[in-house]
Amino acid sequence: MRLPTVLVHAGRPAPGPGAPVNAVLSVSSTYRSGGTRAYGRDSNVTWEALENVVGALEGGEAVAFASGMAAIAAVIESLPPGAPVVVPGDSYNGTRHFLDDLASRGRVAPRLVDACDTPAVLAACEGASLLWMESPTNPLLRIADLRAICAGARERGVASVVDNTFSTPLLQRPLELGADVVVHSATKYLSGHSDVLGGVVVSRDSSWLDAARLRRSLHGAVLGSFEAFLILRGIRTLDVRLARAQGNAMELARRLTAHPCVRRVRYPGLPDDAGHLLAGSQMEGFGAMLSFEVGPPDDGEPAAGEAAAAAAERVCAAIRIATDATSLGGVETLMERRKRWGWEDLTPPGLIRVSVGIEDVEDLWEDLDEALSLLA
Ligand SMILES: *Cc1c(COP(=O)(O)O)cnc(C)c1O
Repeated sequence: MRLPTVLVHAGRPAPGPGAPVNAVLSVSSTYRSGGTRAYGRDSNVTWEALENVVGALEGGEAVAFASGMAAIAAVIESLPPGAPVVVPGDSYNGTRHFLDDLASRGRVAPRLVDACDTPAVLAACEGASLLWMESPTNPLLRIADLRAICAGARERGVASVVDNTFSTPLLQRPLELGADVVVHSATKYLSGHSDVLGGVVVSRDSSWLDAARLRRSLHGAVLGSFEAFLILRGIRTLDVRLARAQGNAMELARRLTAHPCVRRVRYPGLPDDAGHLLAGSQMEGFGAMLSFEVGPPDDGEPAAGEAAAAAAERVCAAIRIATDATSLGGVETLMERRKRWGWEDLTPPGLIRVSVGIEDVEDLWEDLDEALSLLA
C-alpha cells in the first residue's frame, strides 16, 4: 500500500462480519490478568491503533505520548548523565529550553551547531552521545542535509534523532534517510485540527523503543485514549489536508515575494531559496510553513529592530481570516510575529511565521494583502 492508503487503512480493527470499522475508544485503566496488557499507564488499545498508523508511515515502530515534548523528553532522558548532545541553535524552542534546563543541572551538555553547516555538525559529533536535527528549521525554514548528517553521525557512533513535525512522514521519512529515531508533535499536522496535544517516538531499533516505552511508563506522560482517538481521526485526512495547504503555501510564497511591503520570504519551495535543491532531494514536497519579514532591514540597530517588530505586529493585528496565534499544522491558517516570544536568538524581529491552512487561497491572499497594505 502507498502512504495515502496506509493513512486511511492502518490501525483499524481486524476485519470480520460485524467488526467495527473504526478503532475502539478504550477507556479502561486496567486489564484482566494473564494477557499482554496489564495497566493503563503501560498500554492502551486506542494508542496501539495510532501507533500502528504512524509506525507504518515512518517505516518503524511508534510509541505514543501525551505531547510532543513528552516524546522529546523520553528520548533525551534516556541519555547517560552529562551526555553531550549536538543540537541546532534554531531548533524548536521547547527542545532548546528543555536541554538548557537539563544542562543547568549538569544532566546533559548541549553543543549548539548550525544545522546547515554539515562539516561543523559532524565535527561537533565527535565524542557526542546524541545528534538532534530538524529540517526544515523553525521558523527560518532552512534545510539540513539529513542524509549526509545522519550517515556521518553513524560513522562516529552517534545516534541521530530527527524532529519531523514540520514535514510529516508524507513529505520526509528520516529513518529512510539514516536517522535512528524520529519524534513528532502530533499536536500539529498529524492531528490537524488544533484540538488535541500528542506526541510520538518512532524507531526501528528495539533499544530506543524499549527506552521510550519505559520512560512513558515511568514518567506517566501517557496519551489519553480520547486524544489518541482524535489524532487517529485527524490523521486519516492528512494527505488531502497537506496537499491543499502546501499548494496554498506555494501560491502565497510566490505572491508575497512580489509584494512591495514584504522584504524577504522564506519557503523552500521557492526556486531561489537556499534550501530548494536539497529539499527537493530529501523531501516529497515543501510543506505548508513559510515565513516572511516586514519593516526596515534588521541591521542590528535597535531602532530598526523595533520598527520591524511594530510593523509585523500591525500586520498580525489586522488580519481577519488567518488567526494571530502560535502553533501550526491545523486546517486554519495561523500566523504570529515569532520574536514576540523573546526566545530564538536567530529570528529577525519583523519575521512573521505562517502555518498555511486549507482555506481558499484567494481569501487568504486578500486578507494578507489588505493587512500588508497598512504598511505602504
Ligand atoms: C510543537 C512542536 C513540538 C512540541 O510539541 P507539543 O505537542 O507542543 O509538546 C516539538 N517540535 C516541533 C517542531 C513543534 O512544532
